[in-house]
Amino acid sequence: MNKIDLDGRTAIVTGGARGIGLAVTQRLLASGARAVMWDVDQAALDAARRSLDAGEVLSAARVDVTDPDQVRDAVAAAVNGHGKVDILVNNAGIAGPVLKTWDYPVEEWRKVIDLDLTAVFLCCRTLVPHMMQNGYGRIVNIASVAGKEGNPNASAYSAAKAGVIGLTKSLGKELAESGVIVNCVTPAAIRTDIFDQITQEHIDYMLSKIPMGRLGLTEEAAAMVAWLASSECSFSTGAVFDLTGGRSTY
Ligand code: NDP
Repeated sequence: MNKIDLDGRTAIVTGGARGIGLAVTQRLLASGARAVMWDVDQAALDAARRSLDAGEVLSAARVDVTDPDQVRDAVAAAVNGHGKVDILVNNAGIAGPVLKTWDYPVEEWRKVIDLDLTAVFLCCRTLVPHMMQNGYGRIVNIASVAGKEGNPNASAYSAAKAGVIGLTKSLGKELAESGVIVNCVTPAAIRTDIFDQITQEHIDYMLSKIPMGRLGLTEEAAAMVAWLASSECSFSTGAVFDLTGGRSTY
């Protein structure tokens, strides 16, 4: 009874080849789910498959989630391959440059919004009709505390993640009576390869804001996502789940 039960469920994890996505994939597999990792990095996908060593319950596809056609084809392939998809974890994301808003290049802004917000919309709009048809689904969006509080020198990222929170709330209400539940999590800083995209000063700033005085762990994010992806999460939708070591006060 104390194991999160995902037996018979199939999950798609975007950006699943490394970092939080990889930990989520591992945790979903450990809970009995079949998992499909999507990522743009084929070498990282191959390495992740080798390290997870999960056999036929794990598959991987090179998918750029900012491309609507690739998302459509990959959803069709996942549904055909597994019969159904029950869980979508919208995790793929980038930090973007650490710059003041007035110095932020427009192209960089668009790139961050495109992946961190619009791709979440694309994956949801493509998969939701299938989940509605099944009368069951769990969508977990990986937002960020930056979307609640706004990190200085990360306005595109903060705006995109605030957008993910808003999208989660809207979609959760739209689907409230459908059996499809939509929630998001708002982690504070967790050491992954995404740190390579930002400055040490920015990492120090994020750490200084965490009352527990430490960074989060990918496993801690995965544990929360696994519960949100399960049928035990049944009376929460359109909600925002905190993962900040005490930083958030709401
Ligand atoms: P990582 O950089 O470790 O992993 C992100 C993965 O997404 C990478 O494998 C990356 O591939 C992949 N990816 C990038 N672009 C695309 C794309 N267009 N389509 C599909 N996959 C893509 O990041 P994290 O694990 O740290 O972050 C995961 C999520 O968690 C992100 O949404 C992030 O914003 C969020 N988050 C992270 C926090 C942290 O401190 N780590 C805190 C709060 C939220 P490649 O490396 O080849 O680009």
